[in-house]
Amino acid sequence: MTSAKARALSGIQPTHDSFHLGNVLGAINQWVALQESHDAFYCVVDLHALTVEVEPALLRKRSLVSFAQLIALGIDPQKSTLFMQSHVPAHNQLGWVMECLTGFGEAGRMTQFKDKSAKNGTDRTVVGLFTYPMLQAADILLYQPQYVPVGEDQRQHIELTRDLSQRFNARFGETFIVPEGYILKSGAKINDLQEPTAKMSKSSASQAGVIEILDTPESNMKKFKSAMTDAGREVKFDEKEKPGISNLLSIHSAISGTSIDAIVSEFDGKGYGDFKGAVGEVVVEYLKPIRARTLELLEDSGELTRLMKAGAEKANAVASETIAKTYEAMGLIARG
Ligand code: ATP
Ligand code: MG
Repeated sequence: MTSAKARALSGIQPTHDSFHLGNVLGAINQWVALQESHDAFYCVVDLHALTVEVEPALLRKRSLVSFAQLIALGIDPQKSTLFMQSHVPAHNQLGWVMECLTGFGEAGRMTQFKDKSAKNGTDRTVVGLFTYPMLQAADILLYQPQYVPVGEDQRQHIELTRDLSQRFNARFGETFIVPEGYILKSGAKINDLQEPTAKMSKSSASQAGVIEILDTPESNMKKFKSAMTDAGREVKFDEKEKPGISNLLSIHSAISGTSIDAIVSEFDGKGYGDFKGAVGEVVVEYLKPIRARTLELLEDSGELTRLMKAGAEKANAVASETIAKTYEAMGLIARG
């Protein structure tokens, strides 16, 4: 399938009951913008969610909630191909090919694997977490995208994907487009409100510093008011000395569109308390319609599954073409 527009692709894991503000500002808002000018493919990467403990009823619920949230955040299933990763078997097929191209040492250098496995201990770390970046490379390369809109934490995985596509092309002939990460200069890393030097994560041990988009306005407001701040009293952007305040400034600016300098002058002479309340206000107002729309969409799960099916058909058409081309390039005999 050829398309006049450049392609974009990205995915998100259904690993929690709600997405958080980092997912939205670092990634999904860019997905929404790119669907206007690109042939966009976005998926809920449910197979990746099997790398952490699985509770079937919960995974089912979270997958539906994730799909609904993407629509509520502005992904239009008419403009973008929106689908579930597990509905396209070619992801696993190409995943295996990518595993066979990746060095053991190379995979061991992935910092997300090192961080997540260190947190859970080796006994609770599954092999799937180790091979996750290769499945992710397959998720991307199957659709031949030029751009992959992601947050800063995915930079290393995108680099691996680029290496693998170049390696494949060099060994077996031009097959894959070498994609580029599409990572914002600011907003690409939103930090935890209680631990402002660590990224906000769905899988954090504590949700006290995570702003969930489906949480109530009251609870989110409380999280802003009790956000960890830094020594001193001045509202100023300084990521090293004032990571907490700087994070709140980035959040405010990404949502309000006001420059960080302008926000800093607005709070000149005012205390941290006023500032935290104001950022909370901006965020809570922004999230209200998104939460309402998600809850509304979830009332009609039949419609969500219909949309999933339509997305899967479009995705399968592209992915099966790529996997056939890949197998052929490697010397696997076509079934005929
Ligand atoms: P998990 O803890 O389960 O890995 P996550 O919060 O990291 O969850 P993912 O589903 O892994 O979310 O990532 C979805 C997208 O959100 C990716 O593009 C990722 O780069 C982006 N993202 C995740 N956390 C942040 C963050 N704190 N700031 C900006 N972007 C983020
Ligand atoms: Mg993640």
